[in-house]
Amino acid sequence: MSNLSKKPLMLALSSPSGAGKTTLSRKIQQSDSTFKISVSHTTRKPRANEADGVDYHFVNEEKFKSMLKENAFYEHAQIFGNYYGTSKKSVNDLLSKKFNILFDIDWQGVEQLSKFKELNILKIFILPPNKEELKKRLVDRNQDVKESIEKRLMAYDRDVQHSKDYDHVLINENVDNCFKEIKKIIKNNLKN
Ligand code: 5GP
Repeated sequence: MSNLSKKPLMLALSSPSGAGKTTLSRKIQQSDSTFKISVSHTTRKPRANEADGVDYHFVNEEKFKSMLKENAFYEHAQIFGNYYGTSKKSVNDLLSKKFNILFDIDWQGVEQLSKFKELNILKIFILPPNKEELKKRLVDRNQDVKESIEKRLMAYDRDVQHSKDYDHVLINENVDNCFKEIKKIIKNNLKN
């Protein structure tokens, strides 16, 4: 699937934390070399399996705030006590190479990106089958301290309300089926 002559597709995937969005983003990038994940900046501490420059650009609050002052971000948000942002440089580097871009960002970021009318943004919201399953996945992945899991569960109801602003809402009951759905949506949108 090549998209090199067309306007790049910008796919924003959002979901309550733990709904499987990171796995799905990686699967999309691995299955289609025209897609690259936009690497965000964050003040969150890296998890054991995360690498700087790959999963995130990990920065301290001072650096993040100085980038904010320089207007270096297309969008940013404070989530679970940490800052997250999409730098203009990361996006523009990918655009200059004509890649399609995948954004793993929350609804606040999608709202801000949507204001750039020149960007061709396709918005997909991923839901877990239910809140109990989400809790189980958050506990099983064992990445977050208990307090952080509580915060993520508390954000769930509010996050879900924002799903109505998205072009598609998918339920991730089975990751392979959900991935197939996303591929179908991408295919339809690359045709346009
Ligand atoms: P996590 O800490 O689990 O990696 O991410 C927490 C939340 O932050 C997720 O919903 C993720 O999509 C969101 N996120 C990651 N990067 C960005 C970003 O650059 N901007 C915004 N608005 N949200 C982000």
